[in-house]
Amino acid sequence: MPVEKAGEIRGFAGIEHYIQGPGAVRLLPQIVKKLGSGAFVLMGASFYDSAERRFRQMFREAEVPVTIEKFGRECSEKEIARVEDLVDSLSEPADVVVGFGGGKTLDTARVVAARGNRFLIAAPTSAATNAAASGMSVVYNDRHEELYGVQCSRPDYVVVDTEYLIQGPARMLAAGIADALSTYIEARNVWRTNHVNAVRPGYCPTICGRQMARACYDTLLAHGERAYLAAQHTLRTDSFEEVVEAITLLSGVGWENNGCSVAHALASALSVLEDTRPVLHGECVAFCILVQMILDREDWGEFQRVYRFCKGLGLPVRLSQLGIRTAVSAKLQRAVSFAFETQRSLSVVNYRLTPEKLISAMLFLDALSQEEVLGEE
Ligand SMILES: [Zn+2]
Repeated sequence: MPVEKAGEIRGFAGIEHYIQGPGAVRLLPQIVKKLGSGAFVLMGASFYDSAERRFRQMFREAEVPVTIEKFGRECSEKEIARVEDLVDSLSEPADVVVGFGGGKTLDTARVVAARGNRFLIAAPTSAATNAAASGMSVVYNDRHEELYGVQCSRPDYVVVDTEYLIQGPARMLAAGIADALSTYIEARNVWRTNHVNAVRPGYCPTICGRQMARACYDTLLAHGERAYLAAQHTLRTDSFEEVVEAITLLSGVGWENNGCSVAHALASALSVLEDTRPVLHGECVAFCILVQMILDREDWGEFQRVYRFCKGLGLPVRLSQLGIRTAVSAKLQRAVSFAFETQRSLSVVNYRLTPEKLISAMLFLDALSQEEVLGEE
């Protein structure tokens, strides 16, 4: 299933407004006023008790009508329909939908805004993935199995309040770092093979898009360890701020403007295994970045650097850390067959990739990690 080769048309798509920093959500009423006449805030359950009253007061003081609703924990058609009905039945104006919460809250808000032709503000409370700035929502069934992606528009504003983000577990930040780290590693394969980006069919990456991917990689390697340490101690440092921007803006916009290769194709395929369910998306991507670097025959020094970086952040570098401990070869076969059947970005490489080669690279990484030959400086 090959991916289209790019022509001569360069394409870039981004978001219009990105705002990040401590207390950034306090700007929400003014932003809503600029866009429309009232807000519907879909609020993630974990912050609802602590933030709901504060939000209500903030909007009241700015004299902006607001309705606040607690998110029902899953971005499913059922939840989307419930929220849509609620927004449609409001007597207060609500032409701006604000998603304030984790990835699933934002995904639900994105679909509700798109279907009702409303403005969207994405205000993430977690940096666990690079999805806040995206135009894509993933809708699940009520058994938590991924169903399909829904293409919506990108948010009108992304508002990242780092006072909320720093309260999350450091593990979430590490996962976000890995998700973002893949942007440049996968983008390089798109450039090498002259493949299309994910902006529109036929488009090739722009200088701007390429530089975003590179800046993301450099920022993460320079600040990632310090940001992770800061997050472990709930300290909102400059490095933490740099890394949040790299994940949410540079990777969030950068990946679409370049495209994916082996790492995300393999991560999606591994997620079909029951064993990997407790593993976060970014954690799975960390393992898959290293597998891709082995296949791409990247410089050994660079591989070692990325390996140690991931390991230092507590990210998985071996199969058992992904939960794959028994019947390993059958499970890898299953995931890899699924990958070759469904993942178009597996063909974004400048060599012939076979299922055997992909499995060997996974087993080689696993063996390397067990030997600990890369563990020491
Ligand atoms: Zn990802």
